[in-house]
Amino acid sequence: MIDNRAKRTALAMLDQFLVHNNMRRTQERLLILDAAIEREPHFSVFDLADSLKYAGHHVSLPTIYSTLDLFVKIGILRRLSIDGHRPLFEKAPALGGNSRTQHGHHHLVCTKCGNIFETREPEFTLESLTSGVTLPRGFKAADVSLVFYGLCRRCASRGQRKAGSIQG
Ligand SMILES: [Zn+2]
Ligand SMILES: [Zn+2]
Repeated sequence: MIDNRAKRTALAMLDQFLVHNNMRRTQERLLILDAAIEREPHFSVFDLADSLKYAGHHVSLPTIYSTLDLFVKIGILRRLSIDGHRPLFEKAPALGGNSRTQHGHHHLVCTKCGNIFETREPEFTLESLTSGVTLPRGFKAADVSLVFYGLCRRCASRGQRKAGSIQG
């Protein structure tokens, strides 16, 4: 279930940014914000376009692109760059992460089927991960995102069966 607090936080962040930058609070921006907060766990521009279309709203792809970029800039969304995937978005840690993990998390990508999994360890934080790292002088780390590449359980076991049948 989607936490309404995440929605309220996101809306407050958007409003503050729009007022500060003298930008309009357009219907499209609000629709895209709603759809982005509800979509879990990760989504592409095309996934979001589908969500909007399904709800009966027609918003052009360029508008969705630029609005998602805006949300990343404001800190509402986080953009994931994963090898072999089109850019994916998810709620930023400022909104409490997604409803399953409830905290900042990291990603594991199966290089065979492309499925994306999430880490669940709450202690895997910015503080713990940067404690042993020497950052360039003056650099203030605000977020950390790790991507592990490998094989998921299903793909790994398929590989083993295949190897077994060749031997037998
Ligand atoms: Zn897999
Ligand atoms: Zn995630």
